[in-house]
Amino acid sequence: MNLKISALEYVQEVQNGNISAEDFTAKTLERISQIDDKLHAFLQVNSDAVDQARQIDKKIKSGEKVGACYGMPISIKDNICIKNSKTTCASKMLENFISPYDATVISKLKQEDAVFVGKANLDEFAMGLTTEFSAYGPSKNPWNQDYVPGGSSGGSAVSVASHECIASLGSDTGGSVRNPASFCGAVGYKPTYGLISRYGLISYANSIEQIGPITKTVKDTAFLLNLVTGLDTNDDTTTDNSGQDYLSGIDAGIEGKKIGIIQEMIVEGTDPAVLSATKNAISKFEGLGATCEDVSLDMVKYSVAAYYTITATEAGSNLARYDNLLYGYDFPVEGYEFNSYISKARTKFGPEVIRRMILGGFVPSAGHAGKYYLKALKVKQKLTEEINKVLQGYDYLIAPTVPILPFKIGEKIDDPIALFLVDINTVTSNLTGKPAISVPFAVSNGLPIGMQILANSMEDKSLLQAAHALEGTVKLPEVPI
Ligand code: GLN
Repeated sequence: MNLKISALEYVQEVQNGNISAEDFTAKTLERISQIDDKLHAFLQVNSDAVDQARQIDKKIKSGEKVGACYGMPISIKDNICIKNSKTTCASKMLENFISPYDATVISKLKQEDAVFVGKANLDEFAMGLTTEFSAYGPSKNPWNQDYVPGGSSGGSAVSVASHECIASLGSDTGGSVRNPASFCGAVGYKPTYGLISRYGLISYANSIEQIGPITKTVKDTAFLLNLVTGLDTNDDTTTDNSGQDYLSGIDAGIEGKKIGIIQEMIVEGTDPAVLSATKNAISKFEGLGATCEDVSLDMVKYSVAAYYTITATEAGSNLARYDNLLYGYDFPVEGYEFNSYISKARTKFGPEVIRRMILGGFVPSAGHAGKYYLKALKVKQKLTEEINKVLQGYDYLIAPTVPILPFKIGEKIDDPIALFLVDINTVTSNLTGKPAISVPFAVSNGLPIGMQILANSMEDKSLLQAAHALEGTVKLPEVPI
């Protein structure tokens, strides 16, 4: 059985009767058990998956109405709630937390007969970009297991890129879907803010984050968007996109489109292989009939600082609830005063989360807010005005997803500032709410490079057309695992 097929091919094969959901899921679980010791994409594997797939096969056989996923095996980042199963956020703080309800994306996918094969590894509470901050150990890059797979949705990207499932949902606060997709050679999508409900996504920085698909092809991303987007009364930031079909017309091409190359995202220190991939992408776009020109987004140089100031502030408030009273782990109260108990209980968080919370307590505090938090909000505002202006003259903006290649596990873990700077090209789309996609575009020294395309808010459909066009210009080698 070929586990490398895309979501759309899978649906076709099941509809044609060439494969059954049960066989495909069984083979998927077998592959996970064979290779996940090496990769550690999963924090939990769902042993009921085959039974669920069997039920879906029954529906198909009896001619009942079947959901669009036809039993397709999907992995879910472990900060998205699935009812009655554990959601740990890769934190010891939530090691025993059982979700009491389904996230909206999960109920939608259940209705469409997806099968959840497991919960995918991440950096603790989605803070990081390598999965090295997972309290349960890092995931490994399927192209070379000495290297990081990116993060924070590293487990999601690894599981898709190594064919341990067909697709995954991750979350992207500042690049966490696009960065690991780029490092693992998968497609990663951060939708327009508000397109996908965040209900049931455990918040890190809710004013800018979105759930997003990680898939093998751009068409698969469009397929999933059709299933999981839309207005949700449980999330007031969602947008009504009814009637939108992201898959139809995806072959439209980009003839006559105008593309801006963001100069501030081709920074000093960009890896030469990433630079040459970018040049190559530009000539591919031109070959497809688009015009490419340099554009400038001056505020990008402040974007990483603004991003970490805003996200730390929101994280400080979002994570205040983990006081070991409502949520937490087994830690007896005897011998502690109220405050000392909570302080002690919170030492269960890992170092990166603690760093963010300390920062998040300081930057918005009285006497400092003007210098840090409020200033960061101004940068966000100005960056948004700037990108809106540029997008009046261009259909798309492009830049490498990440300026460097995947690096070795352990190489940057002790240097948080160096890690923060790797986010330079991804945070702009979050700070401004714009949709952005990472398309696998090159492989250098056996490690993948992704190209990023951004578009204006609610232009997701058009963005997918451009991404699909770019994807069609390259044929990358198979993942060597
Ligand atoms: N690296 C960024 C951070 O640590 C992005 C994380 C994310 O998108 N969840 O905040």
